[in-house]
Amino acid sequence: TASPLALGIDFGTSGARAIAVVATGEAAGSIRAMAGAKYDLTQTSARDWQLVLEALLADLPVSVRCNLGAIACNGTSATVVPCAADGAPLADPLLYNDSRAATVLPELRAIAPPEHAVLSASSSLAKLLWWQQQPEFTRTRWFLHQADWVEFCLHGQLGISDYHNALKLGYDPARLRYPDWLQGLAIATLLPRVLAPGTPIAPIDEAIALRFDLPAACTVRAGTTDSIAAFLAAGALAPGTAVTSLGSTLVLKLLSERRVEAAQYGIYSHRLGHLWLAGGASNTGGAVLQQFFSANDLRDLSACLDPEHPSELDYYPLPRAGERFPIADPELLPRLQPRPDDPVAFLHGLLESMSRIETLGYCRLQELGATPLQRVYTAGGGALNVAWERIRARHLKVPVAAAQHSEAAYGTALLAAGQFDAIVARLPRLAEPTLE
Ligand code: ADP
Repeated sequence: TASPLALGIDFGTSGARAIAVVATGEAAGSIRAMAGAKYDLTQTSARDWQLVLEALLADLPVSVRCNLGAIACNGTSATVVPCAADGAPLADPLLYNDSRAATVLPELRAIAPPEHAVLSASSSLAKLLWWQQQPEFTRTRWFLHQADWVEFCLHGQLGISDYHNALKLGYDPARLRYPDWLQGLAIATLLPRVLAPGTPIAPIDEAIALRFDLPAACTVRAGTTDSIAAFLAAGALAPGTAVTSLGSTLVLKLLSERRVEAAQYGIYSHRLGHLWLAGGASNTGGAVLQQFFSANDLRDLSACLDPEHPSELDYYPLPRAGERFPIADPELLPRLQPRPDDPVAFLHGLLESMSRIETLGYCRLQELGATPLQRVYTAGGGALNVAWERIRARHLKVPVAAAQHSEAAYGTALLAAGQFDAIVARLPRLAEPTLE
């Protein structure tokens, strides 16, 4: 018989994707099938996610579906949906960047410790407190993250999450429980039970199994967030290894022996077994490049610049005023002068300046106590740019390479394959996660 396959399903901001990999043995991790569905998070309800999930399953070859031993899903972090006792969504999802909950921040500051990851208008806990003040709140029985809800569609169990999604809900990943200040609140009864990512939850719902030719024993495992899934996909598995995402924004994640937190810089750490994934996000990145260049121009002009020759242009490229990390200044203005006539020189200056910001970001994480940087993998649209990679390596002074896999669905497929424990077991062992 064919070796069992594991399926990872990714709900990101602009697309949904499924990747099936071989779960065990020599060929473990090899991709056997992929499916994609058009979906735009900003235009969808939770019921639409269910339809997208079903479309992805239907799109996989039957030969793959009938060999699936396990499934896991990831969703965008801090995208949440309030549900009734039977799991029915009570409202449109509150998206990852929704800031309506800014009104409850004073209340939240009075109960949560300083520097806590929940102290942001877009955190899941801020959203829950905001929802508590809405008239529709009365019927709420569950408050689920996007990944929790999508997995509910597969296994039918309500009120289950993982410690990556639950971080911004206030879950304490060091002590593996909700803190006392949170357990004392009236909304505590709505909080999901939290498992380690990749933990088996339940067999797949019988009706789904029948409809999509899945084995009855196919197990649904706890998921993760989209950006942690992308980190797992890159295969960055030693302390000091980092993944830079060069997408619309510049996002850094560094695998660290120490947990670092600095709310004013938007820096927090996710638990990864007994290690920590320290991260920060800058507002610079591909969105600024797009303001000046088409994708074709970016490719052609980058091929003309000499990456070994440093540009003296010192910019701070931002799409609009405001920066969080590595400089925390909500009023920081973009600096894009002087602008040379030569577009190659201008692009060189932009890429050089973003590389300085990336380097400053990793320095900041290390100053706060993260493990020193040893290697950087690159994901996102900018990962294709070889000249930029050379410029970045010159500044970062460590090896820089494109991630072997940059699809979040691939990282989640590894979770489904039960690889999380294996990945974590291969990491050097420390005493205990730092409890501060
Ligand atoms: P996201 O998912 O964050 O929206 P992607 O990972 O899809 O972003 O990457 C898109 C970004 O990649 C765009 O903002 C674009 O400017 C940038 N990009 C595309 N091609 C290149 C290139 N050759 N060099 C640098 N940046 C690029």
